[in-house]
Amino acid sequence: MATEIRMEKLRCAFGQTIAVDDISMTFPAESVTCLLGPSGCGKTTLMRMLAGLQDPTSGEIYFGDQRVTDMTPSERNIGMVFQYPVVYRGTTLFQSVELPLTRDKSVSKEERKRRVEDILEQLNLTHVAHEDVTTLDNATRQKAAVARAVARQPQIILFDEPITNVDVAAKVQLKRALKGLVKQHSQTIIYVTHDQTEAMTLADEIALMDNGKIVQRGKPRDIYNNPNNRFGGWFLGNPGMNFVEHTIVNHDGGQHLGAPLFRQPIPLQAVHGLSNVVVGIRPERVNLGEETPAAVKGVILRSSLVIGGQYLVSLKIGSTMIKAKTTRNDLPPPGESVWVTCPLEDVKLFTPAGERIDMK
Ligand code: ATP
Repeated sequence: MATEIRMEKLRCAFGQTIAVDDISMTFPAESVTCLLGPSGCGKTTLMRMLAGLQDPTSGEIYFGDQRVTDMTPSERNIGMVFQYPVVYRGTTLFQSVELPLTRDKSVSKEERKRRVEDILEQLNLTHVAHEDVTTLDNATRQKAAVARAVARQPQIILFDEPITNVDVAAKVQLKRALKGLVKQHSQTIIYVTHDQTEAMTLADEIALMDNGKIVQRGKPRDIYNNPNNRFGGWFLGNPGMNFVEHTIVNHDGGQHLGAPLFRQPIPLQAVHGLSNVVVGIRPERVNLGEETPAAVKGVILRSSLVIGGQYLVSLKIGSTMIKAKTTRNDLPPPGESVWVTCPLEDVKLFTPAGERIDMK
């Protein structure tokens, strides 16, 4: 049975720097939670506290019902895979995966052999099983580290940027291998990364971190489509969401949105007390080309072909700059104008302080 991880007001300060700021949250059992956030947001510190490698300044950690806050890493009985795999000289890949299992007296020799063979096969490592680990390339060593952690079958495995230091081709292979593994084993996995593509493809849930706090947790698509705040809109996506400040206009006795992104006044609810809102829209949701009743004119500044055969177009609407992504290849050249529509269903509103306003 896998174990959930519960944090209660978990905090870690280094002098004036608050690396982890009173996090209270439960990471669900038997699922992959990716801790995603920019460099310095506190991911590694949080992970190290879960592993028992860093003492919290305050707060508690529970694995299931068990309080583990004061336990050593080995007492916590978890698997860990780090950015730089530990390599034991003079051991074969098979031996290095088997080693942690030999310490577990409840596992028979036959069972041990079976588990190691199974995991090596799953990770496509059988052909190098009897090579000295020091002779293997980076990606293979990292796979070996994954195999070591998984073969022990701990209830919780922590991964800290395990595929950052391997080349692109090996990254794809490792990602595929990890995905296959986490599907087969019902462990609770916490996976730290600053790479959103990695998080989007691997996670059951993403816990988005900023400035020592988890600002949103949810399914990758939900967070992408409905960021709680500007940070989530900006951090996810390549490029992130466009944000354009709008002054709320009073029109016909109600509050409305108007220029620069909308030609006709759009009635607003739920923004009482605000004189300004920030309109957020993802580049791929901005429609270019067709003249619609809501369309405004934008001047194309730049257009470049990006991954997926789309064009990334920079536009100026009045003095406002936005980005759009489109598959249209019949757009006019830079310097000329184009109709720009921001469909209301794809628009998110934020307060000037950056919190999402739910539109009715
Ligand atoms: P990265 O992706 O760059 O590793 P991160 O999100 O993992 O970043 P942390 O490494 O947890 O972030 O760091 C969070 C903050 O705590 C940073 O400001 C960092 O400088 C600080 N910090 C981390 N470890 C220590 C330490 N041992 N002593 C002092 N400050 C630290």
